[in-house]
Amino acid sequence: MLVTLKENLRNAEKGNYAVGAFNSPTLESVRAAVEAAEELQAPIILAHAEVHNEIIPIEVMGPILVEFAKRATVPVTVHLDHGSSLEMVKKAVDIGFSSVMIDASHMSYEDNIRTVQEVVEYAHGKKVSVESELGVMTSSGVGGEETHAEVIYGDYYTDPLVAKDFVERTKTDALAASFGTVHGIYISEPNLDFKRLKEIYQNTNRPIVMHGGSGLSEEDYIKVINSGVRKINYYSYAAREGATAVKEYVEKENHSNLFYHDLTVVAKEAIKQNIKRAIKIFLNKGEVVSK
Ligand SMILES: [Zn+2]
Repeated sequence: MLVTLKENLRNAEKGNYAVGAFNSPTLESVRAAVEAAEELQAPIILAHAEVHNEIIPIEVMGPILVEFAKRATVPVTVHLDHGSSLEMVKKAVDIGFSSVMIDASHMSYEDNIRTVQEVVEYAHGKKVSVESELGVMTSSGVGGEETHAEVIYGDYYTDPLVAKDFVERTKTDALAASFGTVHGIYISEPNLDFKRLKEIYQNTNRPIVMHGGSGLSEEDYIKVINSGVRKINYYSYAAREGATAVKEYVEKENHSNLFYHDLTVVAKEAIKQNIKRAIKIFLNKGEVVSK
């Protein structure tokens, strides 16, 4: 069933777990995420990233996400990832998305607040949740969203005191905070600032969103969840897993005729297994989930 981000994360708050948000720019990735969630009877978030409009436009993929969410036997939020404007937000809301992210983190502080306030006013009027971002999430440049690749290291983490002011003034439902994760594939070991994360969570009293959330160790996932992260954006590693499986399939089998539809089946299965593992960890049930 289709649920708002607010409702989905409120339940996560009660149960001290995180909900995985899976970007779904292909039919294989949507089916993988929904099947994984249903098999585990866990809630999820299906996300369409604005940058993926180049792969498949929101007008094409959006209605498919909404339909999958409505038919699912588990709570599913349909979310716009890294929306850049009120115009794109309105488009997502019209399609039936139950949640939007407005990313104005590259703007000045006051402009960020103004932009988020505008989106919150519009979206809340339509019973749609809002995620916004404070601080800057960099990209490894490998498969990630290239939104903030040029930012200078060290000066981009979210300030816990500023975060308090930010959520009070914007009334955002969830806050994407920067405390050491990066978009894309990690080229060096992630170094997370758990103390900062805890302070942001305590100061804001909001569910915290972790971007760049694939590729962490199982211990780090548990630590961030216990520190207030309720939504984990998980994509790059699952997408790479799908491609690796297809590559192996193509190389290993001696196909005299290769059919594209067979590749989609191989990709979907690999993405699904990867997502299932992630969801099991995010549920934070105290069991060790091996690969
Ligand atoms: Zn992101």
